Amino acid sequence: MTPQTLNRPSRTRNLPSYLDAKNIGPWEIYLEQVERVTPYLGNLAYWVESLKRPQRILIVDCPIRLDDGSIAHFEGYRVQHNLSRGPGKGGVRFHQDVNLSEVMALSAWMTIKNAAVNLPYGGAKGGIRVDPRNLSLGELERLTRRYTSEIGLVIGPDKDIPAPDVNTNPQVMAWMMDTYSMNTGRTATGVVTGKPVNLGGSLGRADATGRGVFVATLEAMKLKGIPLEGARVAVQGFGNVGGAAARIFHDHGAKIVAIQDISGTIHSAAGINPHVALEKLRQTGTVLGLPDTEVLETVELWNVDCEIMIPAALEGQITADNADQLRCKIVVEGANGPTTPAADDILHDKGILVIPDVLANAGGVTVSYFEWVQDFSSFFWSEDEINARLDRIMREAFQSIWTISQQHQVSLRTATFIVACTRVLESHALRGLYP
Ligand code: NAD
Repeated sequence: MTPQTLNRPSRTRNLPSYLDAKNIGPWEIYLEQVERVTPYLGNLAYWVESLKRPQRILIVDCPIRLDDGSIAHFEGYRVQHNLSRGPGKGGVRFHQDVNLSEVMALSAWMTIKNAAVNLPYGGAKGGIRVDPRNLSLGELERLTRRYTSEIGLVIGPDKDIPAPDVNTNPQVMAWMMDTYSMNTGRTATGVVTGKPVNLGGSLGRADATGRGVFVATLEAMKLKGIPLEGARVAVQGFGNVGGAAARIFHDHGAKIVAIQDISGTIHSAAGINPHVALEKLRQTGTVLGLPDTEVLETVELWNVDCEIMIPAALEGQITADNADQLRCKIVVEGANGPTTPAADDILHDKGILVIPDVLANAGGVTVSYFEWVQDFSSFFWSEDEINARLDRIMREAFQSIWTISQQHQVSLRTATFIVACTRVLESHALRGLYP
């Protein structure tokens, strides 16, 4: 194929017909990120349209019997955005706001993230539109099992491997693994990651995303000349990612000055011990009321004085409306999609470095990959081994992406997309178009 034909501009710029064009939300953000990177893709831009539509979308109805005997229906999704580099990989979210646009965007960001840290996976994501706080444990188990059966058509250890995300945890993964295993007549531990350790889970997985956030931030702090000792850190989201990140920063000498979760926002210029805050959360369901902290309004989190701001809750949190208020030096995206493109530009103009989700929170899927490899070989590694491998992958990915960002004078997000889209589209070009 000649370079002329490779460079031919794409003719299809329309949205997939199944999306409501007026309300495409996070998917629109993802498309804009791909647009920004396209000029840097050279001849591979010929294939870029394939990144703008998911390869496969499954929407399922999950009816379950509630404890009171009535039947409730929940809508579930599994989206496989791109499988050029290997089986699909990405979490499952249980949240009342889950919708197709969101799951599509999250699956696409998994394609980018997996390629950015060079894991042999494509990108996928799933979710159920449900507020799990309204379900009993039994109802949650029945919903998880029905959803797993419904998406059983497309998942499998060598097809697509779900993992935890917002409001899902090792117990939910254990139910998914058991359901898939029952339906296929064998114990298939490798069908999900983030399982309990005694069911084929990996040591280090629980803290992996928070640890990856920490390692990536440390690299950026070295480049920016910010000492770790006493560095002030604010976190939004105090769950799997935000809670672990806060603990690890605290344990290495940084100072957690603000914590926000669904229950509210607490602040202390003197520093909050996240171990104590997590214990309070476990016992009372809220961080509010922790001794020696003051309560802030939700929006006040963004102008807390700090060096490091870690949004680790949901997408769309730092927008054109509040980006100007941020007073940190580095934003580290523990969550997926917390910063809109307009906010990205404002932060850039303010000289705030953004470590993008597709790099910063890749630690989780990296240890998920280790878990999957361990399950296949039935040989399990020590936690030190896992952490050392994770640290190396995160450090190397950060450094190579930083180099690209300097070479092209682009943000770390665009640099990550350059590295990842190049890898994905190279695989696509090598495989060619079927049939
Ligand atoms: P989680 O359910 O464990 O925690 C979510 C946290 O966000 C909770 O503390 C919750 O109270 C808080 N929260 C929810 N709504 C909020 C709101 N409106 N305002 C403030 N806080 C709110 O979820 P998680 O696994 O920690 O995931 C958080 C983010 O990180 C998501 O964007 C997820 O996609 C992303 N992520 C998670 C992993 C992982 O390994 N768990 C990996 C990569 C990315």
